[in-house]
Amino acid sequence: MSRYWSDVVRRLTPYVPGEQPRHPRLIKLNTNESPYPPSPRVLDAIHEVDGDALRRYPDPESVALRAAFASAAGLQPEQVFLGNGSDEVLAHVFMGLLQHDAPLLFPDISYSFYPVWCDLYGIAGECVPLGDDFSIAVEDYARPNGGIILPNPNAPTGMLLGLGDIRRLLKANPHSVVVVDEAYIDFGGESAVALVNEHDNLLVVQTLSKSRALAGLRVGVAFGHADLIDGLQRVKNSFNSYPVDAVAQRAVLASLADEEWFRASCDKVIASRSRLTAGLEQLGFQVLPSSANFVFAAPAPQYDAQALFLALRERGIIVRHFNKPRISSFLRISVGTDAQCEALLEALSELLAVDSA
Ligand code: PMP
Repeated sequence: MSRYWSDVVRRLTPYVPGEQPRHPRLIKLNTNESPYPPSPRVLDAIHEVDGDALRRYPDPESVALRAAFASAAGLQPEQVFLGNGSDEVLAHVFMGLLQHDAPLLFPDISYSFYPVWCDLYGIAGECVPLGDDFSIAVEDYARPNGGIILPNPNAPTGMLLGLGDIRRLLKANPHSVVVVDEAYIDFGGESAVALVNEHDNLLVVQTLSKSRALAGLRVGVAFGHADLIDGLQRVKNSFNSYPVDAVAQRAVLASLADEEWFRASCDKVIASRSRLTAGLEQLGFQVLPSSANFVFAAPAPQYDAQALFLALRERGIIVRHFNKPRISSFLRISVGTDAQCEALLEALSELLAVDSA
């Protein structure tokens, strides 16, 4: 604490991301990164960046990249917004579109950055409890609100809402912005981007960090009505004119041009997810149905999830444990390569055997 801090900074409780340890031999299943590299075309595009491109400022409006996203989504470039990771896009969304008098609704178990942005911008957040089976019932959001945000698939549960549910949510809330955070949509869900032209109150946010294996590059994107995007541009241009750097603009264009690589990587993760789920179930875990690149799994009641988390860590395998109401008995495990998933299952099987001996 410093006497120079503003009142806002004194009051903040910042978000804590999953750790990024430097040890190269660790099996890192804690931040839902892709276990596979990005398309080789991305690396080629980065190698082709010359001194001139770095000497100059990048295109502040990322015109070529917005056009590429728009064309892939069947939208206009005015319906696309880009930022430095979807965390930055979301931060601008909270400030520009969700800061109203009525409370912002989001699920009680969802992305733990949402309450942090509420605090930062003085937004009253209201948590809507998930059902006992951890599902989201869209009817629960039919109450006065100044906006709604939910991850789909939800994080950290991995559970998916279908487009029919998203449509019902939009119809029941025509006077507020509904933000669908689709960080994990490419691993088995149907994107609500298809609904953008039907609903002027829908904003869909996606990231290049997971399914496109570009977490290190920091690019996120939002799709919505041109008026919503215009609002986000106003925030961006009052904050940082160049959030997407010259290297990132070229690299993401190259990634979008290689759909084959992208689909193959997602399919490998989806196949490994089934094997990991089956393996965990064999060890007595309850595994929630996941449409994401992670699973949310609770060991049999006699075992302590936090103790397992720590014991795995000692063996060089890092997963995520949230010490929070309702979910402290679960581990969130990113889907790795088959070899990594095997190593995890083997370690768990030994730990559970020791524990019950
Ligand atoms: N939304 C959700 C639900 C997430 O889990 C994450 C990853 N922590 C993000 C958004 C942000 O991802 P990024 O900033 O890497 O685009």
